[in-house]
Amino acid sequence: MPIVPDTLSLIGHTPLVRLKGPSAVAGADIFGKCEFANPGASVKDRAALSIVEDAEARGQLHPGGTIVEGTAGNTGIGLALVANAKGYRTIIVMPETQSREKMDTLRALGAELVLVPAAPYASPCHFVHTSRRIAEETPGAIWANQFDNIANRRAHITGTAEEIWTQMEGRIDGFTCAAGTGGTLAGVGMGLKAKDEGVTIALTDPHGAALYNYYAHGELKAEGSSVAEGIGQGRITANLEGAPIDAQFRISDEEGYHWVRRLLDEEGLCLGLSSGINVAGAVALARQLGTGSRVATILCDTGFRYLSTLHDPAWRAEKGLGQAAA
Ligand code: PMP
Repeated sequence: MPIVPDTLSLIGHTPLVRLKGPSAVAGADIFGKCEFANPGASVKDRAALSIVEDAEARGQLHPGGTIVEGTAGNTGIGLALVANAKGYRTIIVMPETQSREKMDTLRALGAELVLVPAAPYASPCHFVHTSRRIAEETPGAIWANQFDNIANRRAHITGTAEEIWTQMEGRIDGFTCAAGTGGTLAGVGMGLKAKDEGVTIALTDPHGAALYNYYAHGELKAEGSSVAEGIGQGRITANLEGAPIDAQFRISDEEGYHWVRRLLDEEGLCLGLSSGINVAGAVALARQLGTGSRVATILCDTGFRYLSTLHDPAWRAEKGLGQAAA
């Protein structure tokens, strides 16, 4: 590994690991992109850097300026670390339902935190709308707008997809992940399709999201609910527009947690629920593609971010999650 000149150079270039348990169950080779290895410990560092550098290139962000964003947490952490490394201030608006660890990490990074009650997207109090208003009212501020700013997915077209293609030496049959903004799914999907049209790109949707029905039946309709943080989208964001989706799977929190548990117990990998849901989706896709297929997915962030939630037995009991495995 070479010496890198600064923190921002640590973003991306993450390892790809073969996941033994999921591969054995699917009779395939399933690989996880280790996005927890980014300096902010999540996939969102890539989008954060791309959004900030895009704003700089457009002349919208100047020294001492402010970056404002509404986020489930990980994008805020990415933006705060990029901002610190470049000399900007950050204001982060997040729903108060997100994990304590994300809030503490944001405070440690010096971001100004604005917590809002969870509200539907149609409500003016939703964290995304609140963050846009704060950006408009703050002199010298930009609104990162991760959902509809396609500098987000560009990070995955030029970064994540290229890396996966190179790491798998072009021998890849399928890719799948869940969508929050959709930047990862659309960006990696577009990047891999540009290399080989034959790679199957699949959406893995949690319950409570509307995209499964959209790609399966052309209708944005949500059913059920999920406690997974950072995923579950109800609309076609600008990042999702034109995403090359060939197949879709709907995965329950219980199936996702099953893989979080097994990867922790059998492979020593501590992940969050969105990663578990992605792995369940990868197993489903590999089964569809057949024995011996090679499928990649995203290990979105570190499980150490969820010690007070997913990895706490009392929290799981309260949510009725993983009780069979406890
Ligand atoms: N998992 C976690 C834990 C996240 O925070 C996010 C980002 N919201 C995602 C998955 C989904 O990534 P994307 O926004 O690129 O769809």
